[in-house]
Amino acid sequence: MVRLEDMDWQTYEKKVSDGSAVIMLPIGAIEQHGPHMSMNPDVLIPQAISEGVAKAFDNVLVAHPISYGYKSQVKSGGGNFFPGTTCISGKTLIDTIKDVVVAYARHGNRKFVLVNGHYENSMFVVEGIELALEKLRIDDIHAEVILLSYWDFVTDDTIKTVFPDGFTGWDVEHGGVLETSLMLYLHPELVDMEKVIDHQPATFPPYDVFPADQSWVPESGTLSSAKKATVEYGELLFQVCIEGIATGIKERFK
Ligand code: ZN
Ligand code: MN
Repeated sequence: MVRLEDMDWQTYEKKVSDGSAVIMLPIGAIEQHGPHMSMNPDVLIPQAISEGVAKAFDNVLVAHPISYGYKSQVKSGGGNFFPGTTCISGKTLIDTIKDVVVAYARHGNRKFVLVNGHYENSMFVVEGIELALEKLRIDDIHAEVILLSYWDFVTDDTIKTVFPDGFTGWDVEHGGVLETSLMLYLHPELVDMEKVIDHQPATFPPYDVFPADQSWVPESGTLSSAKKATVEYGELLFQVCIEGIATGIKERFK
């Protein structure tokens, strides 16, 4: 059993009270990902990757994900104006990360891996970690946190395989081949490839505007086409992320 909240509290206590367990916390977003896919890839992908990693260890547990994320931005998530895209403020995300990490540390946990699945969360998660560690230090609790975004574990070789026509960059991957392939592999029931809208990767000026200009975003809500996504790519991406993250955990926490 790798899902922490599926355990009874006494089994959990036995596993974590000596501080030897590693807690993985997926952090995502509820955000539209085009007409062909559900709105939860940013949650389900880091959760599945965390569970895949945890299965390779006997002391790694996966915490319930933080499902809501920081406001979707036009150039990385299509923007915060599509029906269904449901975001929280930076302040709320910071406080949520802080409170959840502090709570798990108070159970005895000292080793954490925060697995981000939504680009816009990044620096608010950093701030939440900093504040959690600061708060714990007052009580002489010293925890260590690894923070990662799963796509950073996709190797150059894998990029060449998954994007044979050239890679346009992670920023316009929103709802594209990477996320759609992973979802085809992990949750095929949430993807309908017949509804993929095939379009050129979005291009943007080198600045942002506020209020956001919705005309910058392709009507589909995706920033590149998912047409070439396959379940095989999904499996390859999943495995390379699991291997890389498992290696990182062994490096830091053994
Ligand atoms: Zn996404
Ligand atoms: Mn996202």
